[in-house]
Amino acid sequence: MAWFKRKDKKLKDPEKKSIPDGLWDKCPSCNEIIYRPELEKKLSVCHHCNHHFRISPQIYVDLLLDKGTYRRHFQDIISTDFLGFNANKAYSDQIIEATNKTGDNDAICVYDGDINSHRVILGIMNFKFIGGSMGSVVGEIVSRALVLAGEIKAPFILICSSGGARMQEGAISLMQLAKTSTQLAKFSGEGGLFIPILTDPTTGGVTASYGMLGDVILAEPGALIGFAGPRVIKQTIGQDLPEGFQRSEFLLEKGFIDHIVDRNSMKEKLSTLISILS
Ligand SMILES: [Zn+2]
Repeated sequence: MAWFKRKDKKLKDPEKKSIPDGLWDKCPSCNEIIYRPELEKKLSVCHHCNHHFRISPQIYVDLLLDKGTYRRHFQDIISTDFLGFNANKAYSDQIIEATNKTGDNDAICVYDGDINSHRVILGIMNFKFIGGSMGSVVGEIVSRALVLAGEIKAPFILICSSGGARMQEGAISLMQLAKTSTQLAKFSGEGGLFIPILTDPTTGGVTASYGMLGDVILAEPGALIGFAGPRVIKQTIGQDLPEGFQRSEFLLEKGFIDHIVDRNSMKEKLSTLISILS
């Protein structure tokens, strides 16, 4: 039995100053309040603790590709709701919503363009499109991007950001692991250079396929990278997990990735790697 009741739903603090909406962000890592225009100027990296916020594909394009050198590909490929999948929402509605939100047809966009005058094919996954999930369209676009990179003999750079395979497409989403890995093996066999860049978060089917198949694997600082989530692993092995488990720094120490690269030095790093390796 309750002895007392709260009249107001929310406690109010009369001293608390309201901050204008949209001008400030709180860093989830160090809790500092950051002025958003300042944050954007620094490529959405916290100047207190170097936390890398998630950014949109367009910012990566502006950051990495030389101005006026690039062109987008494969924009007309659209997902089909093979299974008439309906959970909380109908999959067909989810696709429409995500398309309206991001302006893209699926969770990846591909460009050809130059990085410091080296021609590359650049793919960028978008976590805002149904969690960057890999369905038939992502698989098809990655495969076509590899074919294109092979034809023009350019390296393939892929910025990964994904919650895993798109379960709304059932087994067809899982086929994309095999499809992209096979295409990648062919590309690699013909001497192609593939550099995935793992950003926060890169998990599930993407980690289990092209995310971990790079000639050189780069990651942004502090990114969550793994296959299953920590809770599932803990339940399976019945042990506590070490601190920092599944973050870039931990994976670097264990040899799963090759370099952790800050966003502001990513272009230089890629340019150097390409000139050495291709
Ligand atoms: Zn911070």
